[in-house]
Amino acid sequence: MIIVVGAGSAGCVVADRLTEDPREVMLLEAGPDYPVRFPDEMLDGRSMATTHDWGYSVPRPRVVGGSSATNATFAFPGDGVYGDWDYSAVLRTLPISVYGPEELTEVQRAFLLAAPDAAPIPMNRVGAVRQNAAMTYLARARRRTNLTIRSDCLVHQLLVDDDRVVGVRAGDTELRADHVVLAAGAFGSPMILLRSGIGPAEDLRRLGIPVRLDLPVGTGLTDHPLWELRYATAKPTPGGPDFQVLLSLLDAQIFPTSARRCGILASPTGAYFGLTVSAMHPNSAGTVRLSSAHPEAPPVIDFRHLADQADRDVMVAAAQLARTLATTEPMASLVRRELYPGPEADLEATIVRDVTTYHHASGSCAAVVERTGRVHGLRGLSVVDASVLAPIPGTNIHLTVLALAERWCRVFAGDQADAAGPSVPAAPADPAR
Ligand SMILES: Cc1cc2nc3c(=O)[nH]c(=O)nc-3n(C[C@H](O)[C@H](O)[C@H](O)COP(=O)(O)OP(=O)(O)OC[C@H]3O[C@@H](n4cnc5c(N)ncnc54)[C@H](O)[C@@H]3O)c2cc1C
Repeated sequence: MIIVVGAGSAGCVVADRLTEDPREVMLLEAGPDYPVRFPDEMLDGRSMATTHDWGYSVPRPRVVGGSSATNATFAFPGDGVYGDWDYSAVLRTLPISVYGPEELTEVQRAFLLAAPDAAPIPMNRVGAVRQNAAMTYLARARRRTNLTIRSDCLVHQLLVDDDRVVGVRAGDTELRADHVVLAAGAFGSPMILLRSGIGPAEDLRRLGIPVRLDLPVGTGLTDHPLWELRYATAKPTPGGPDFQVLLSLLDAQIFPTSARRCGILASPTGAYFGLTVSAMHPNSAGTVRLSSAHPEAPPVIDFRHLADQADRDVMVAAAQLARTLATTEPMASLVRRELYPGPEADLEATIVRDVTTYHHASGSCAAVVERTGRVHGLRGLSVVDASVLAPIPGTNIHLTVLALAERWCRVFAGDQADAAGPSVPAAPADPAR
């Protein structure tokens, strides 16, 4: 029996691929399951969905499908070391479309003309419908009798016998397994390790958790920092899908949002649009820690966005370029005035104060896993999700998470007889950084 914890992007891939062969797999997910039809909000890929959330300090979905069920559907293969990975299985499974000019909003069309290197974003949508990992990978696995899915099942911790993981505890239930795959995401996976006594000894002792292995679980948390300039529109501008076009630079992305409603005092037309910027190769890294040993307690998430001056420089340069685009025709004709931060603001100080997440949390278990996804000093356990991606890809990370899971499964399937576990994937360190 193999237990997979977390039915998000990576967990759905693992459950699907491992049940292609005759082995028993149990997939455990803290959120609900929608095997027939997802709620409309999660099907509508034109905006990010907001329900079914863990209620942490940043959005994080709790549902079979995980972050793929609510995300913005940007679908880029990874770059750098991840650019050499094989994405063909992912691209065969997840439908990806690029939308034509007739489907763009006025703001998005104007952005393409003002920034000739910008392009429509490949998106994992069919029409307006978001194609999540449960609708694609897991849907075909559901027909197999060797897969059991338990939803609304919160995994508290691992069961460990000496140096071997032998299962998981969910509430009062102990579930035994020959191998456990942690796919609970960049917050969930480190939290399960920490509750199991695997983490920084001092932190664990402070929370009254007996220390099993003193390891830097939860360090190395990385994300792409995000910040948005806002412009009052000069004329009534219809809204539409939030994001559809993007300018990708060496170190940054810039993309417009479609027009949104706002107060008439801010904008005479009652509408504004945003120009969003992000530094795509951040040096800054933070931590995820437990706030309590209680399994429902939220983590303490500290991304330390822009702690590194080089990241601040990239954000300021990208924001300045975005401003230039806003004064370039045909964008300029759509703009009444810059609403935020306004021409007088100290750009760097404002960005540092208001920076937010691009939702690409990753790397929080990378310091404690081998290239195989095995946690140092433990047998019978693999971590296979965004938490082992380091460095963070220089693009939106979803396809790389799926490709990571595909890679891990290929190796696991070929190597299962070896008690030492599989002997490949996980990202090698990027020599360029
Ligand atoms: C709002 C949002 C928008 C995004 N937009 C994009 C985008 O447009 N393009 C892109 O490339 N990337 C995007 N991302 C990032 C990308 O979707 C994620 O990085 C990726 O889906 C993460 O996959 P994962 O398998 O690591 O984790 P997840 O998909 O988050 O899955 C983890 C699963 O584990 C479950 N779980 C956690 N703890 C437990 C526990 N203790 N017991 C049981 N189950 C548990 C969770 O409920 C969840 O279902 C976005 C992410 C978010 C949140």
